[in-house]
Amino acid sequence: MAEGTCAAVPVGRFAPSPTGPLHFGSLVAAVGSFCLARCAGGRWLVRIEDLDTPRVVAGAAEDILRTLERFGLTWDGPVWRQSRRREHYEAALNRLAGQGRLFACGCSRKEVLASAPHVGEEGPVYPGTCRQGVPGGRPARAWRLRVPDRLIEFDDPVWGRQRQNLAVEVGDFVLRRADGLFAYQLAVVVDDAASGITQVVRGQDLLASTPRQLYLQQCLGYPAPQYLHLPLALGPDGTKVSKRHGALAVPESLEPGELLWRALHFLGQGVPEELYGAPAPELLAWALSCFRAERIPARSAPAG
Ligand code: GLU
Repeated sequence: MAEGTCAAVPVGRFAPSPTGPLHFGSLVAAVGSFCLARCAGGRWLVRIEDLDTPRVVAGAAEDILRTLERFGLTWDGPVWRQSRRREHYEAALNRLAGQGRLFACGCSRKEVLASAPHVGEEGPVYPGTCRQGVPGGRPARAWRLRVPDRLIEFDDPVWGRQRQNLAVEVGDFVLRRADGLFAYQLAVVVDDAASGITQVVRGQDLLASTPRQLYLQQCLGYPAPQYLHLPLALGPDGTKVSKRHGALAVPESLEPGELLWRALHFLGQGVPEELYGAPAPELLAWALSCFRAERIPARSAPAG
């Protein structure tokens, strides 16, 4: 095949933050991204998002990787770790600065909250206080990206057409935080591009982050992957299952097959009752022959 004409192999990924053991919600994201990549004959990568060092829990990354192995969710190539890729985020930040897209911001979180025109789904909308320079010679804290006043649109196979005006709904957003850490939005875009990701499958809690990531890709000249957001597993209090619901961490005692069945059921895949409790490899083989994005329900629901 001539150079440049070979058909691209889809590349998916699972990108857990090592802030605790894998819970049912992250298992659903792992299973969904794995099945969609593998069913398309693609590769599936794992990336540990350990950039937010204050939130990283020692041993959690290894624990998550062991759990994935126990489920038979085997990844391709080496595990990526964001903590080892800081120079790449720095380089991207410098490129954006060179394009005149960044500005230093001296506002504290409290000040942004107090002066925001409104508090959206993603928190207070940045009011643009430091766009023309940090007022009154105050020290710069964070670095923000100027955003355009126009709609950014994309199609999500589960949730339909999405539209967001970053200027109205988010405001200029932080790429380097006051504590010096690179923001999730920057790192995720740099890593997805560097690892050749073509499909991003993750929880619906990140649906509202996708326009920021699409815009960053445009600024940096990266191709945009396809995005699919999975319904969230809710805890007993109706919020996303997370570390707070310690009891819902994937228990060592439950058979992987049983949990896989529940994850596939949660994803609307019509997994037969008689496969409940079947060994994990059998369930995965079933899933890889039948998994369909069209069956994923567009509503979050209680876990299990
Ligand atoms: N690290 C994020 C999380 O664990 C996921 C990021 C992503 O998939 O883009 O919620």
